[in-house]
Amino acid sequence: MPISKIVKPVSPELIHLTVLRTQRLSGRWMRVTLGGGEVDRFTPMGYDQWFRLFLPIGGEAGLERVPEKANKVFGYLRFLRIPDGERPVMRNYTVRAHRAATADAGAEIDVDFVLHGSAGAGAERAPARRPDATAGPASRWAETCRPGEHVLVIDEGLCFNPARGEDRVVLVGDETALPAIAGICASLPASASGRVVIEVASQDDALAFPHPAGVEVQWVVRTEADAPGVGALQALRGLELPDAPFHAYIAGEQALASGARRLLVGERGVEKDRVSFTGYWKLGAASPASKTAREAAARPVA
Ligand SMILES: Cc1cc2nc3c(=O)[nH]c(=O)nc-3n(C[C@H](O)[C@H](O)[C@H](O)COP(=O)(O)OP(=O)(O)OC[C@H]3O[C@@H](n4cnc5c(N)ncnc54)[C@H](O)[C@@H]3O)c2cc1C
Repeated sequence: MPISKIVKPVSPELIHLTVLRTQRLSGRWMRVTLGGGEVDRFTPMGYDQWFRLFLPIGGEAGLERVPEKANKVFGYLRFLRIPDGERPVMRNYTVRAHRAATADAGAEIDVDFVLHGSAGAGAERAPARRPDATAGPASRWAETCRPGEHVLVIDEGLCFNPARGEDRVVLVGDETALPAIAGICASLPASASGRVVIEVASQDDALAFPHPAGVEVQWVVRTEADAPGVGALQALRGLELPDAPFHAYIAGEQALASGARRLLVGERGVEKDRVSFTGYWKLGAASPASKTAREAAARPVA
């Protein structure tokens, strides 16, 4: 029987969380630490655990109207019935780190946001959309959110199923996949070996992370002339792959995910069910571009 591509979450329910603090990690990275609320209901799974994040762009009242299962087709249809302007923004993010509760503090979840585009002039004083803003709403929110703000999450589990192999890996991504690749490396056995290729927009954004000694990390800094993903794909083309079998994982801009999969399966002969790949975002298209969202949007509202 083929091994499942994904690992389902323990509890796919709506969980209320609070922004505890934010930290600028580099020019294009903002860490938002979430906790409080119902954080104890979130079950950490390590690896590239990801979740749907609902952001209070139109005010916190909209969060109360998000239905259960808003990540599934029928729930998403109900979610779309929340009036424009009040409906929270739903985006996909990764657990960069989870810290269990201690005697003195509750559990915490770090989420690392790529800041793309600009939040606009004066954004540091108010989270409202600025006319000169070019960033997407999640990026803008991460840049301007304040401790005490509320969000909702729905756990989605893993795209990297360790049962597909974790002794030898090839992990490829752009910066949006850095939290996932760092999470996978933190969860691999210490004896694991393999190669990592991560493309970032600048050297400053290449945030180092712990990994098993046998895993070699190669950073690729994007050139201005290249579209996101081109550099990582080129590096993968020249990469000396580990001996088969190994588990390959690719995440990032859509063209990188599909191009790298084609390269590995079509040109390098890697078995299909050893390649996990996910398009994290699409150049020129706002998220969510997920199958669920597309299906829901295509259905007439009853
Ligand atoms: C499973 C999963 C896990 C993810 N984990 C993370 C994570 O931990 N950290 C993270 O930063 N992202 C992560 N992403 C990617 C993130 O969801 C997208 O980048 C998302 O589109 C950002 O939302 P937005 O509201 O800022 O922009 P959107 O409104 O979705 O897009 C607005 C415009 O910005 C462009 N855009 C979107 N993202 C980027 C980008 N990174 N660089 C340049 N242009 C962009 C779009 O093409 C569009 O033109 C993940 C995605 C998935 C599917």
